[in-house]
Amino acid sequence: MTDSRIRSIVILGGGTAGWMAAAALANRFKQGITRITLIESAEIGTIGVGEATVPYIKEFLQDLNINEVDFMRATQATYKLGIDFDGWYKPSEKFIHPFAGYGARIARIPFHHYWAKLRAQNKAQTLDTYCLAVQMARHNKFALPKANNDIELSSFNYAFHFDAGLFAQYLSSLAQGMGVNRIEANVEQVAQDPDTGFIQSLTLSNGEKIQGEFFIDCSGFNGLLIEQRLKTGYESWSQWLRCDRAVAMPCASTLAPQSATRALAMEAGWQWRIPLQHRVGNGYVYCSDYISDEIAAEKLQENLQGDALAEPKFIRFTTGMRKQAWNKNVFCLGLASGFMEPLESTSIYLIQSSLTLLLNHFPNNQFNQTLVNTVNNNLRIRQEKLRDFLILHYYANQRHGQAFWDECRNMAIPDTLSARIEYFKATGQPQVDELDFFDTNSWLAMFSGFNIQPQHYHPVVDDFDVQLVEQELKAIAASIANTVKDLPDHLHFMQRNIFIKSSQVVE
Ligand code: FAD
Repeated sequence: MTDSRIRSIVILGGGTAGWMAAAALANRFKQGITRITLIESAEIGTIGVGEATVPYIKEFLQDLNINEVDFMRATQATYKLGIDFDGWYKPSEKFIHPFAGYGARIARIPFHHYWAKLRAQNKAQTLDTYCLAVQMARHNKFALPKANNDIELSSFNYAFHFDAGLFAQYLSSLAQGMGVNRIEANVEQVAQDPDTGFIQSLTLSNGEKIQGEFFIDCSGFNGLLIEQRLKTGYESWSQWLRCDRAVAMPCASTLAPQSATRALAMEAGWQWRIPLQHRVGNGYVYCSDYISDEIAAEKLQENLQGDALAEPKFIRFTTGMRKQAWNKNVFCLGLASGFMEPLESTSIYLIQSSLTLLLNHFPNNQFNQTLVNTVNNNLRIRQEKLRDFLILHYYANQRHGQAFWDECRNMAIPDTLSARIEYFKATGQPQVDELDFFDTNSWLAMFSGFNIQPQHYHPVVDDFDVQLVEQELKAIAASIANTVKDLPDHLHFMQRNIFIKSSQVVE
């Protein structure tokens, strides 16, 4: 057998995707046999948004041996327990999608089945009441989950809000410390093998030619290699995810940072509010068929809690995915691979999961097509599942009389999503499998937040005395309320544990 290892990897792009790839690859190829080069252009710059994450990011930090507190200091991060959906179901109603479970199992049957039965009899409160993380977020509290000894404090997870620019910088110095060669230049030409179409080299603005065997395209929306050169194709999902623009504008912090991302439904889309240590990130994601850029920017400005720190930045996008993430010797990541809008902070998650998949199926210099197809199929399924989860947020709304929301409520949804909704109604159980990032609890949060009620529940629930179950539910709610009372505020927790300067935050 011959040595068929890939010896040179070229990453095009130094945004979040590029530097995450550089750090993860350098960590995997520590022996120095495989050369890793990253090319980025200060002139072109990065998208500069992408501030909310999901708990999976902690695995990325752990793999790189990154200390969480150091990371939080370096990226001006705050904790995130979930997303506060304000006005999505109806204008006056709110719910939180937590990174957490609900209640506790009774006789090995998940809590929500008991809850469904009692709720239908008006003997239970909203599902939110039985979730510690939701109650923590509602009261703006924070503590780290504890393993084992305290059931409630171990039943949630958390993620971060961070400054995307600082995150890329942090990973850049880490990756360069692990041997990644960084080049600052514009790529002006791309050379392909005339027979195979494989990319051979990139020519920079200074005339230098960078050769590589494997290229990771992290060049942003344009997809310089995967699309401009290889013409891989893009599958648009804009018939379901109707928002196609965003306007972003950071502002000064005037209030203690919230321990959840805020997603506020607006006339033609929604607004994010992401608290960092040094500022608040804000943006309005909207559908250009229903609102102009100027009005969207005005509406966003009206909702800022502090003084604007920059001019509005407008971003256009088409929701969807690249038809193949991996084509020939190019693997694309981040915005080059598609975009699903930031509603559930899935972009950085997708960068990370794509990287994990790639590292687990890393090619040799033969680029076996079955291997490539396996990775592409896996990524397609993952993304379609995420897509369906996002579509539900729009489709299930009851914001009657607002044109954008009326259209979303009346659209034809993918069969896969209809099947999920029907299954839940029929069994009381969300249908999830190992390729779903959003698990049972996430789907439950959505179904209950949008008041999609099951018609049935697990049959074993009827074996239990309703009064006893009712008492159990009351005990769980009381225990959560007591626990929350004694927990520190998010800000105080951070001051104690992350040592942020109190002058940076106004209480
Ligand atoms: P970019 O940041 O655009 O980087 C592209 C890189 O390629 C740059 O370094 C650029 O200089 C380089 N480049 C391009 N062309 C060339 C060339 N010819 N020569 C040399 N270099 C070149 N994700 C989340 O997980 N959470 C969020 O809350 C979130 N919010 C978002 C909000 C909005 C409005 C948008 C649009 C996205 C959001 N995202 C979010 C997604 C997130 O911003 C991106 O997934 C992430 O930043 C990755 O971007 P990127 O690295 O792919 O692209």
